[in-house]
Amino acid sequence: MNFFDVIETEIKSPVEKRKFDINQIRADFPILSRKVNGKPLVYLDNAATTQKPDIVIESIKHFYSEENANIHRGVHYLSELATNIYETARVRIKEFINSPNSEQVIFTKGTTDGINLLATSMWRSGFLKDGDEVIVTEMEHHANIVPWQLLGGGNKIKLKVIPMNENGELVLENFEELFSGRTKLVSVVHTSNALGTINPVEQIIKIAHEKNIPVLIDAAQSIQHSKIDVQKLDCDFLVFSGHKIYGPTGIGILYGKEKYLNELPPYQGGGDMIRDVSFERTTFSNIPTKFEAGTPNIAGGIGLAVALKYFRSFNLIDVIKYENSLLEYATEKLLEIEGLKIIGTAVEKTSVISFVIKGLHPYDIGTIVDTEGIAIRTGHHCAQPVMKHFNIPATARASFGFYNTKNEIDKLVSALLKAKKMLS
Ligand code: PMP
Repeated sequence: MNFFDVIETEIKSPVEKRKFDINQIRADFPILSRKVNGKPLVYLDNAATTQKPDIVIESIKHFYSEENANIHRGVHYLSELATNIYETARVRIKEFINSPNSEQVIFTKGTTDGINLLATSMWRSGFLKDGDEVIVTEMEHHANIVPWQLLGGGNKIKLKVIPMNENGELVLENFEELFSGRTKLVSVVHTSNALGTINPVEQIIKIAHEKNIPVLIDAAQSIQHSKIDVQKLDCDFLVFSGHKIYGPTGIGILYGKEKYLNELPPYQGGGDMIRDVSFERTTFSNIPTKFEAGTPNIAGGIGLAVALKYFRSFNLIDVIKYENSLLEYATEKLLEIEGLKIIGTAVEKTSVISFVIKGLHPYDIGTIVDTEGIAIRTGHHCAQPVMKHFNIPATARASFGFYNTKNEIDKLVSALLKAKKMLS
């Protein structure tokens, strides 16, 4: 089957929903049946990246086997075909996030790339100037801290920080006091990769808009666990990475409101993003191409659209319910381990559990559970201010996708007990 057909068909007809059958879902992901260190793989590092279903892997293979050509430039058959498929993928993604049109959907390399694009472009346009302020939260990934600090050669933008409490929940009581005459943007993470906290972004957006300040949402950890509707949210910008939602690495999306995207200058210069070039002067094309210099990750864009189609073939409510049941079960079972403390106990939480065990270094925990074929993440999770808040250097983190099972959580608990025995 041509993957153009797969994408097209879905645009024309609503997706037929699949029953949530965990065994069938697991069978869709070939890597889940491999062994690691002689044991069946237990993959609990989904906040870092998710695994890919067959249909995504096949779509990439199919593109390179049957459809590969550069886009937007050739009149020949394959170039037109590749262009059509790639642009159809953009339409699919537009529908997934409910963008008003596909011009507002810009392909990037991922969340990090999307934030760097915006930061650089805002600086270049003069929207952000020396001494201006961007409001972030205490639980940002470094991708939403460092790009702002790099502007203008370094530390020209002041970051004002919404604090969090000991549960890892934002404290919004004094949010309005963070705004000043120099505030230009509120840029906040929707769901924390280090704590699992789901932030009340609707409320944040509403308050910022009352003050006429635009809001950027980092949806890297929410796109795969919730319904993202950019019009309903009324966010001004939103970024996410394909690889966190069962799609390929190296592809992501920046959504923006037209009024901003039309005004902002290009991020990078090169092929495809120009209208007219001379040695004296260059004019640029319209959005989205203005922000997409050079040959893009064509197969990645197609793979992402196929991943979204796959994801949408399930009722989101089934996915969320199932993931919540995993989170609840894991929380209960992990807390039975003596000396284990969960870092991040927000009421509104998604399937991420960060923890420490008294007397054990997270790195050693990760190494020992790996010998049992279990993949978890250890470290600061690119969120050092979060570690600083809790006065710890690192955590171990188990994060779930909708293909994980309670049995895998039991295996994690056994491996942790083994680690405890070995290390203490
Ligand atoms: N923000 C958050 C909340 C994340 O979890 C991540 C990935 N860990 C990023 C940003 C950066 O995403 P990427 O590395 O795909 O650019």
